[in-house]
Amino acid sequence: MFRFALMMLLPVSGYTQSTDSLFVNPGKQYVLDYISRPEMFEKFGRISDAIWSYAELGLQEYKSSALLAKTLEDEGFNVEMGLAGMPTCFVASYGSGKPVIGILGEFDALPMISQKALVPEQDPLIEGAPGHGCGHNTMGTAGIAAAIAVKNAMDEYHIEGSIKFFGSPAEETLISRPYMIRAGLFDGIDAIIDNHLSSKFGTSYGVGGNAVFSVIFTFRGKTAHSAGAPWSGRSALDAVELMNIASNYLREHLFYTYRMHYIILEGGEAPNVVPDKASVWYYVRNTDERVEEMYERVINCARGAALATGTELSDIRILTAIHQKHSNKALAELFQKNIELTGMPEWTDEEQQYARALQKELGKDEKGMPEKVDSLKAPSASFTGGGSTDVGEVSMIAPTATITFPGAVPGTIFHHWSAVAGNYGSLAWKGLNAGARAMAASAIDLLTLPEELATIKAEFEEYSKEHPYKAFLPEDAVPPLDLNKELMEKWRYIMEDHYKEY
Ligand SMILES: [Zn+2]
Repeated sequence: MFRFALMMLLPVSGYTQSTDSLFVNPGKQYVLDYISRPEMFEKFGRISDAIWSYAELGLQEYKSSALLAKTLEDEGFNVEMGLAGMPTCFVASYGSGKPVIGILGEFDALPMISQKALVPEQDPLIEGAPGHGCGHNTMGTAGIAAAIAVKNAMDEYHIEGSIKFFGSPAEETLISRPYMIRAGLFDGIDAIIDNHLSSKFGTSYGVGGNAVFSVIFTFRGKTAHSAGAPWSGRSALDAVELMNIASNYLREHLFYTYRMHYIILEGGEAPNVVPDKASVWYYVRNTDERVEEMYERVINCARGAALATGTELSDIRILTAIHQKHSNKALAELFQKNIELTGMPEWTDEEQQYARALQKELGKDEKGMPEKVDSLKAPSASFTGGGSTDVGEVSMIAPTATITFPGAVPGTIFHHWSAVAGNYGSLAWKGLNAGARAMAASAIDLLTLPEELATIKAEFEEYSKEHPYKAFLPEDAVPPLDLNKELMEKWRYIMEDHYKEY
């Protein structure tokens, strides 16, 4: 087992710096110094570790969102909790008037991947429990650290405008952002700073990820004695199985950017009773241009299955529907300069040793932690599809780009025990601290450099003319607050003993 002594960060001048960085005005220097202070390094590191230990699933992040919201409130932010129909969704605002700069923050965990912190081999903390395998514990925390530093700089240097932190639940199930947009929470926002933990320190522009429809199909049939009178029954499970077979044949005839996966939620309760209710949860993913047509074809698979089995397709429940992410180039260029200004954290021998041990265990290159920040990443010439983020929906309504900050060991598999192991302790603390500095520095630029912001907004206007926003989410969709509820109630009771209180 590896445990690390926590190391104080070097002052900003101790980092690798680029020569063409944006001018460092006093407000920007202030936020860089503020977040680097040892007491802030520790404060935000401990908040991240506490959220790691809560490991709350999407829409059940009561403790995590409360900790972030309270920290902002204590700093003088105006916090509104329980927005857009989600108890764990909140917005924290400071300042008044234009420009309005937004920072996104996430805090939900993933099911089944519990793991002991900083142990480089699979060893669950609690067998089968949720874990933070995507670093969202570090991300909400990095976001509030940046927002608090910016707020203090606004006070200190009389910087005009507003800073808003968007506490966004259930990113792992891509749920909150379309509902937050529908509720008008992003109205009047000039630019959005998103962040994600990574093994790299960098940013990118252009289109990325797939659009998604997340949908539960429910079939109703008739019960009967499965052996005594099966001819009287109509199996809803048969309908689910036939729908899945149909959609698996459909794959052959979909454009290659698609992704499609499902889990069966209900399929009866005993083999000797013909199931009269069955349901299946689909993710239907493709590009913005192709996803609606693909979704229609999947619905036809469901209709055909109902017809074939004499059952009824009784409900089609859309949990969420989102667009691809379109990162603003001018905004990413501004982020890049501040990433270079911040520089890669320096890793201790112990941290490198842990990184290599984990890489060895995973069969990856034993190269340790990275030393340099990445260069600005252009979009791939041929998009072949992939995962998704509901940040995509936000990118349709305001200029948005993402700072990915380091801390995850290169070779780590996200949504896997290896990510849970390392998203805690000094690697995570250093990564989120660097990310917070790059975000805060960028926010100061956006508040104080009107020409830069104008360029970013002009690019967005141009894009929006060609891609006007129209929600995929139907108007009658509501946030699925029942999702993860029972699961989290069960685990919370078991996990409480392992909570690290901040
Ligand atoms: Zn994530």
